[in-house]
Amino acid sequence: MGPLRIGIVGAGIGGLAAANALHQTGHDVTVFEQARQFFRVGADINLTPNAVRALDGLGPSIAQAARASGARPTHRISRMWDTGAETSRLPMGDEAERKYGAPQLTIHRADLLAALAEAFPLERVRFDKRAEAITASDEGVSIRFRDQDEATELDLLIGADGIHSVVRNAMFGAESPRFTGVVAFRAVVPTERVKDLPDIAAFTKWWGPSPESQIVTFPLNQGRDTFIFATTAQDSWHEESWTTAGSVDELRGFYARFHPDARALLDACDTVLKTALYERDPLPHWSKGPMTLLGDACHPMMPFMAQGAGMAIEDAVVLARNLAGADSRSRVQAALARYEAMRIERASRIQIGSRGNQWLKTGGDADWVYGYDAWKAALPAATPQ
Ligand code: FAD
Repeated sequence: MGPLRIGIVGAGIGGLAAANALHQTGHDVTVFEQARQFFRVGADINLTPNAVRALDGLGPSIAQAARASGARPTHRISRMWDTGAETSRLPMGDEAERKYGAPQLTIHRADLLAALAEAFPLERVRFDKRAEAITASDEGVSIRFRDQDEATELDLLIGADGIHSVVRNAMFGAESPRFTGVVAFRAVVPTERVKDLPDIAAFTKWWGPSPESQIVTFPLNQGRDTFIFATTAQDSWHEESWTTAGSVDELRGFYARFHPDARALLDACDTVLKTALYERDPLPHWSKGPMTLLGDACHPMMPFMAQGAGMAIEDAVVLARNLAGADSRSRVQAALARYEAMRIERASRIQIGSRGNQWLKTGGDADWVYGYDAWKAALPAATPQ
């Protein structure tokens, strides 16, 4: 048998990272995406050094595109919501690059998707293909789409279809994500409006009076814009959306007792988007037969450690490394077992850690997160066939 026929459901950051990594190792990869085309939705993606290093290995065009459109925060700073006291300050920028081999990059989600999409043959992304039913048999894996079209005889199916994953439901049974009782507001303002605030070129997290209450700010679009991300408890709002408008007055109301520097950020906002935050518990297994999961499909997490996209990219790299050289169906399941063994502990630890929202509040160890290298992490020995 030659290269594997691999189907990936979902052309998000995780799906496209996996598509690039697997295509480069010679596999025959097709991506099935429910959207009709790539839309410019979302705003920021915060890529910490571990995520940037994983991305860099996907090729120079992706690494260059991410750097060309992203911003490099100078520091990662924690400040207390009421006094404004600084409780931790990590140098990022050149210092992170020296220490971890890659900088932190804050980038528009659509720019990152575009960089990943341009590096992968477009004709291998099939749009308007919403996966609805998945079956695995001796003939391989089959997907039936909403338009009744089918993909059949796949050697491997990868579910990269996000928090509401259809592939996950097909593998492990239907179970809905859980509303966390937390909502998130997101706004982008021209940096010119807030340039006099201290450390505006840094990633700054204002820690609120309760764990779910925080304001995060960092540069975007090479520093021309400043991104503001605020979360708070609000049980009455359940809508999950990257495009629904929120109320600026409501936003300011939630943080009315915060330090004047934090309030000044919110005063600069003209418009804001609002979404409810959902999550799931860690899974005991990510794979079943010739099917596996990556990214939000298997470990959707709270945004408090800023690792959602990073974990999806790391998953993609480690999965492709384990599948390199797999040239028959009989080798797929062993490769998936190695992938799972390498990834599940780290991703689950970060998924649980993101819940608590205490990480780096007052110092702490960033190295175990930022220092991970998905390209160099030791591969378990392959079982002889
Ligand atoms: P996702 O990014 O969720 O990608 C999943 C992909 O699968 C999507 O393209 C989706 O259309 C597709 N899909 C889903 N179901 C099916 C199906 N049945 N058949 C075919 N295709 C399917 N995070 C941030 O931090 N900041 C943001 O601004 C931000 N904006 C976002 C905007 C959108 C529209 C989405 C979907 C996610 C956004 N995220 C954002 C989340 C962030 O991108 C993810 O947490 C992270 O990158 C993990 O990526 P993923 O590829 O695992 O999942």
